[in-house]
Amino acid sequence: MKSYLLLFTVILFSGVAGAQQLPARWDELVASDFSQALQKSSKTCILPIGILEKHGPHSPIGTDLIHVREWAARAVKAEYAVVFPDYFYGQINEARHQPGTFALPSKVIWELLEATCDEIARNGFDKIVILNGHGGNPEFIRFFMQSLLNKRHNYAVYFYQPQNDKEFTDQYLKMHQSDPQNDQHAGEGETSTLLYYRPDLMRMDRAASQSGANQHRLNLPNVYTPIWWYAAYPNHYAGEGAKASNQLGKFTTDHEIASFVSALKAIKADTVTLQLQKEYFDKVDSLNK
Ligand SMILES: [Zn+2]
Repeated sequence: MKSYLLLFTVILFSGVAGAQQLPARWDELVASDFSQALQKSSKTCILPIGILEKHGPHSPIGTDLIHVREWAARAVKAEYAVVFPDYFYGQINEARHQPGTFALPSKVIWELLEATCDEIARNGFDKIVILNGHGGNPEFIRFFMQSLLNKRHNYAVYFYQPQNDKEFTDQYLKMHQSDPQNDQHAGEGETSTLLYYRPDLMRMDRAASQSGANQHRLNLPNVYTPIWWYAAYPNHYAGEGAKASNQLGKFTTDHEIASFVSALKAIKADTVTLQLQKEYFDKVDSLNK
């Protein structure tokens, strides 16, 4: 009887251990599993970057962060990679007049991103994939990445930049209710995404309580000025969040997850980027020999 009990206990516990999957989140891994995570991810770490800023009167301040984290979490179920913990340090100077905005000085966000990439690499990753959710970040991210060529790095940073997919866009526009040109921030598209991922956080009854229309308060031909966004959208709201739907959210997120998964597969299999980077730095170094 005792031996049966022992056998039963062994089976039960091995069943539990077998059912335990290797977590994708860096912060959920145990240190003794880290080398397995490195191997399974092909030394690839996703760095989802969000921001803390107002998203209309109805969607959470962490909308972009929540979005990229949900996106990454679902993608790595199909294609394993390690996902770096919450990162919400980016360019958001244009929303400092709104409550809840967290805008660190430019020097700090630059140094933090560089130090973060260096630390990810020091832990054994040689591929870092930036999955960005915030519209005010791409110029900063691209300039940061271009600057990585200024000194030798033994890791590569990849920036996921989805290209226009005609079939998806045609169907998206059919489902979309509001003016797509003006749907830029906390509008129908983004609100639908959050409504699908985290309906519990949405305050949809407030979505129409402010205007997300372009105010056209500054009209200078062919001229850029940093106040352009505030001039157009003083409520830091661009679009009509009230027209969002769960169906549009599901349609968008299914597509964004699938398309990120295929990029992730390509990055994990990629050997050329690091090889060319090494060749490039070797040539740079050979100039002063
Ligand atoms: Zn956003």
